Amino acid sequence: MGRKLPKQRLRTFLVNSVNNLATVDTAQSRVNLLDFDEAGLRAFFESIGEKPFRAQQVLKWVYHHAETDIASMTNLGIALRKKLDLVAEIKLPEIIREQQSTDGTVKWLIGFHGGNAVETVYIPEPKRGTLCVSSQVGCILNCSFCSTGAQGFARNLTCGEIIGQVWLAAKSLGHERNGSRRITNIVMMGMGEPLLNFDAVVSAMSLMRNDLGFGFAAKRVTLSTAGLVPDIYRLRETLDVALAVSLHAPVDDVRTTLVPLNKKYPIAELMKACRDFVSEKHKRTVTFEYTLIEGVNDHPEHARKLVKLLRTVPSKLNLIPFNPFPGTIYRCSSQERIAKFQEIVMKAGMIATVRKTRGEDIDAACGQLVGKVQDRTKRSERIKLKMAETTP
Ligand code: SAH
Repeated sequence: MGRKLPKQRLRTFLVNSVNNLATVDTAQSRVNLLDFDEAGLRAFFESIGEKPFRAQQVLKWVYHHAETDIASMTNLGIALRKKLDLVAEIKLPEIIREQQSTDGTVKWLIGFHGGNAVETVYIPEPKRGTLCVSSQVGCILNCSFCSTGAQGFARNLTCGEIIGQVWLAAKSLGHERNGSRRITNIVMMGMGEPLLNFDAVVSAMSLMRNDLGFGFAAKRVTLSTAGLVPDIYRLRETLDVALAVSLHAPVDDVRTTLVPLNKKYPIAELMKACRDFVSEKHKRTVTFEYTLIEGVNDHPEHARKLVKLLRTVPSKLNLIPFNPFPGTIYRCSSQERIAKFQEIVMKAGMIATVRKTRGEDIDAACGQLVGKVQDRTKRSERIKLKMAETTP
């Protein structure tokens, strides 16, 4: 009881900080139809005195036929198209730059009104193609090993800006729903903390899942979180998607230095939320991400403690070699140390993969995504000043 209050306050604080910093687009008078999931679009059509089934027609145009011109949606009837054109539009973000790595990884810098931009990455592998999508411009969580954190925070992305990243990537890759499915998996592992932008992220992910949208199976659409415990429960009640949790340490003191949010939601509570997430109706596993940082969390003893911890949750472990970025104090663990860590976990009977670093030549690896953050927290300025003071 006594512990619930500060947590509730933290959550309110985090959500309010995000909302207060969010920019309102006053220039836009027409609603963007990309901001609605199916339920929202049905409600929208009802609100303008039209039949809700129009939502299905529009969704098919936008997500099956990649049509964004309302005038071309021929089964809507001319009168409805004209009416729609007055009150609504289909407004995609803009691809500012596309870069292709020698290993096939593609990275897009995607820009939004107001000068912000995020990065979206496509990682092709022999049997799958993963799209890594951003949920916020910057991040407020300030994890010490992540370059996104060092850039501060500008605002939440809207549903349209999140699903717009998928739409643009699908189009650019020539992804076909019923043909060449170049994207097989989507992970919310780009910039930002998706659970701090809950409503927009859930709407966008429901469009990824919906057959009228991109039609991905639940296990192929993953939300990754630094561990906002109450929102993990909320997600479980709201939408069937896979869960990944950025763990990075098996003990609280180490985890708190890497993920400050751990102070409020320590490991034991996080593990309970993960167990509950996959229990009963969600018969799946949680993927735990563990970035290996030299001398910080890569000792064999950490691996042994991790084994004990993960025994309590149906899970997979994804080991990520730390990717350095300018100004970081951390270094990547050696190959031997990574191999030893993986061996200890595998010998205990768990699934542990080492994530190959992809797209290094175009800075597209985990924790290297930077985008363009109109930082409203002043954190990036403070960090730059500090770096200037400490650099000889
Ligand atoms: N906020 C969410 C979504 C970001 S996902 C989350 O924390 O899960 C990005 C993943 O890359 C996370 O697991 C994050 O911890 C990891 N990561 C961040 N910086 C990294 C770095 N420099 N090297 C390797 N992994 C990093």
